[in-house]
This record gives sequence, C-alpha cells and structure tokens, in this order.
Amino acid sequence: MPELPEVETLCLQLRRTIAGEEILESRVMDSRLGVVPPLAGRKVSSVFRRGKSVAIELDGAATLAIHLRMTGGLRWRGASPLLLPYSRFMVLFSAGELVLVDPRRFATVSVQATPVRSAPVAMDPLRDFSLTRLREAAENKRLSVKSFLMDQRVIAGIGNIYACEILHAAAINPRRETGSLTTAEWREVKKAAVSIIRKAVACRGTTVSDWRDLFGNEGEYQNHLQAYARAGEPCRRCRADILRAKLAGRGAYFCPSCQR
Ligand SMILES: [Zn+2]
Repeated sequence: MPELPEVETLCLQLRRTIAGEEILESRVMDSRLGVVPPLAGRKVSSVFRRGKSVAIELDGAATLAIHLRMTGGLRWRGASPLLLPYSRFMVLFSAGELVLVDPRRFATVSVQATPVRSAPVAMDPLRDFSLTRLREAAENKRLSVKSFLMDQRVIAGIGNIYACEILHAAAINPRRETGSLTTAEWREVKKAAVSIIRKAVACRGTTVSDWRDLFGNEGEYQNHLQAYARAGEPCRRCRADILRAKLAGRGAYFCPSCQR
C-alpha cells in the first residue's frame, strides 16, 4: 500500500511532468470508478498532495483527486508504447499519458471544485506535525502506539513499513500503550517520523513488493530499513535479533532488546 513518501514522490514527479500542460483527452476504462467528467481542454495548474491523495489542480477551478488505496499506482507513458496491465483511467497530454493502474481496483478518482487546499483533519508529518497535537491525540489511549501511528484519522500517510521504522528509530516497543509514552518519548517519535519520511521521499519510497514511481522505477528506501522485513537479522543498534509479531492483524517488526 502506498504510504506518504510514495504519494509525495508521485506528486513531485507529476508536478515536473504535467504542470502547465493541457489535457487532450481523459478516459475511464473501468466502470467501477463511476462517472468522471471529461477533462479535455483543461490545463494543469499544479499538483499537490493532500494526505494520501494526489490532487491535480485544473485551471485553478477544479481538482482531479486520485486516491490510490491498496494497490493503485500512477504511471507515465511517454512516446514508447508500454503495456500497462490493470489500467483503469488515463489522461492524455501532448508529451504522454498518465495512467492509473490498480490490480485490486480500490483506487478512487473524483473531480472536485477548487479550493480544496483546506487543511485536512489529520496531521501531516511533512507539514503540521506538532508535539502538542500528538500528545493531545494520544492522551489516555490504550491502543498500541504502532496502531496509533497508523490511524489515518490522526496522522496522514503512515502505514506498516514506516510505523515500524519510526518506532525502531525512537527505541519504543510497538506494543506499548499509546497513553503511556512520556513527552520525551513523543519528541523522539516526532523527530524520527519527520526524518524517516523526508529521507524516504528523497529515496522515492520503499519497494519491498510492488511499489514503482511515476516512471516505473523502484524506490530505494528498502536499502535503509532498520526493522521492517528484517526478522531474524541483527538489530543494527544492539545486535539482538529483530522479531516479527502479529499486532492488530499486521506484522510488527521490532527489536525486543533496545525498543522499550
Ligand atoms: Zn536493538
């Protein structure tokens, strides 16, 4: 599932590729997407990320919002013919085509009236991550801190991979009750989240299964993982074996020795 760094990567690449360009044609190839108004003749004024949605602003008057959900991806098809299975929606420009590919078909596409830049309710680790808000949201919560970090109503864009990495960097056990963390520990969580997500964006995301960027390339953050998908391998901080445990239905990777 694409998390914040992957969606941010797509937005940065899209901005460089289609900002200022005019749409020649748009086509829905999967009726499950519902009705998307025709976009021909409209010009892309900007591309930005809103939570985990890709927002393509058109003439400043409407926004094409794409949410990738489970398995959605966006691909740029340039001059060379490239077969893209599971294509569900496409937008044609003079230099190439933007294609939504999505094997499991949960991604959504909608056209909304602008402005939709209004602040979403959830905190965004790259924009408005505040220690005060984090502590307020966590107060008295009994769920595990890992599930808390992955709650999209609280924080936008952190999924399983980055939650494991953030907690390893902050040296906090993923099973800890959210309400039990001290202010100093939240400060570590916040610092880890911001630096890991920034670095993951610079690496164009993490490819452990099917993530590809706009141009079909793998990300590079998988080369920097400290905990995720490293079960049985030594912790790089204390040399104890990384464990994998089931937590709220997801695999939690952590070091039982240095994550307290
Ligand atoms: Zn360790």
